[in-house]
Amino acid sequence: MRNIGQITLSAWLVTFLLGYFGLGAYAYETLEGMDRSMLPLAPSIFFGIFLIVSLALTVVWANNRGSDLPEEEAPSGRRKFLLGGAAVTGGLIGGTAAVAAKMMPWMQSTIPMMQEAGQDELTADNPHDSWKGSRIVSRRPLGSTGFMASDISIGTGRIMRHTNPEDLLREALDRGVNFIDTSPDYAGALSETTVGNVIKDRKREDLFVVTKWCTSEGHVRQGSSPEDYIDALDDSLSRLQTDYVDLVHVHACDTVERLMDPNMMEAFEMAKAQGKVRFLGVSTHTPNLEEVANTAIDSGKFDVMMLAYHHGAWPKQQDIIKRAAEKGIGIVAMKTLKGAKHKGMMEFQDDATSYTQAAFKWVNADPNVSCLVVSFFETEHLDEYLHASGKRLTESDVAVLNKYDDLIAGTHCFASCGDCLSSCPESLPINDVLRHRMYFEDYGDEKEAMKLYAALDKQADKCVTCSAPCTGACPEGIDIKYRMTGAHERLTMIA
Ligand code: SF4
Ligand code: SF4
Repeated sequence: MRNIGQITLSAWLVTFLLGYFGLGAYAYETLEGMDRSMLPLAPSIFFGIFLIVSLALTVVWANNRGSDLPEEEAPSGRRKFLLGGAAVTGGLIGGTAAVAAKMMPWMQSTIPMMQEAGQDELTADNPHDSWKGSRIVSRRPLGSTGFMASDISIGTGRIMRHTNPEDLLREALDRGVNFIDTSPDYAGALSETTVGNVIKDRKREDLFVVTKWCTSEGHVRQGSSPEDYIDALDDSLSRLQTDYVDLVHVHACDTVERLMDPNMMEAFEMAKAQGKVRFLGVSTHTPNLEEVANTAIDSGKFDVMMLAYHHGAWPKQQDIIKRAAEKGIGIVAMKTLKGAKHKGMMEFQDDATSYTQAAFKWVNADPNVSCLVVSFFETEHLDEYLHASGKRLTESDVAVLNKYDDLIAGTHCFASCGDCLSSCPESLPINDVLRHRMYFEDYGDEKEAMKLYAALDKQADKCVTCSAPCTGACPEGIDIKYRMTGAHERLTMIA
């Protein structure tokens, strides 16, 4: 076959494209939290088929090398074997890279952020008597919705950890919390069931109940029919034992396409006309936060935005929040504790103000914030968290936050950052290495951290002998070489 080389090359190109847009997209959407039953499998299957075809063609191509040459000039069998082996290896590496390239943004920023968030609601070791029986004392306008939301509101993502989650929620409502954030994909929809069992006995109009366009398996996929969206909402209503939810979010939204999915918009308008939902929102803390948030603001379609927001926030994020609030969009802050570190919390034992309260007051000091949502899953959270309601940020709070920042100074590598990466001639994944160190040291997840570190393509052993051109490359002031060397020692258990 004379054109076997071109045909093989074309087959590999198609394989790479299918790797990126097929298997890579499937993996990306799985990481994004989509309901897997809604993801198309065909592109991934085609990727597999083309991979096999490309491999077979490569073998044929290598075998055919020099077939048009006189026997003495034709490559030997060994040379053909080596050539074929190199081509197959190159193809497999290219295919893997195409899949990984699609998934990279989530692996580098959002997943770490979610893991960080998983550590963030911790209880003070020194509950003060004055916190006992704390109640909500401040309600704030939720954008243009007309609702006055409790400044500290309840997230139910981890409420099932409590031995009696319904009682915990009842007590929170009795103490004045009136904004409840839930989702079908929290605890396999048990969170919604819990909320339903509690709110059925309450005056419904006193509460603002929020859910997401999700099933118990994940987000409703972009491009799903309006009926699929409505079915998901109906399931939520049935678990919540209510005729309507006040708000439905496009949950953990990373793409403008999912944000503006016309089928979702149509479903929302239909559900709204049927009285099943009142407002539309978006929650986002993804690699693409800026674009998603700005599109949501400019579209004029969204009533509420839920964004990660904590002291020491990214300046552009404050601009986004300000712009959204000016357009009448309610701002709900989440992940307000800057990845609070448990060991760091011990440092606040003697402070009159807990770190959590200081962090909440900092967030609520921004007049553009309507309320913050925090996961309640321990009884102690009621006293500690609600004590911050309506309180102004004081000098001692700022001192606590500064103390916290000092504790983490030079160590907190931001999950979505990568500003220093180009400074390393070895192309080390500095952010990944430092994140794994954080899991090891601060989250006590040594085994997992070491496993993740071992799986990195490049490790920080090179830093030991390096002249450190990365010095000064971190705007957060992290001494990269020092932290990297220490990371390698810990994560490989070098004494
Ligand atoms: S010290 Fe490490 S991270 Fe810094 S430039 Fe050298 S190899 Fe890269
Ligand atoms: S070390 Fe600094 S610049 Fe590098 S990723 Fe972390 S926070 Fe960003």
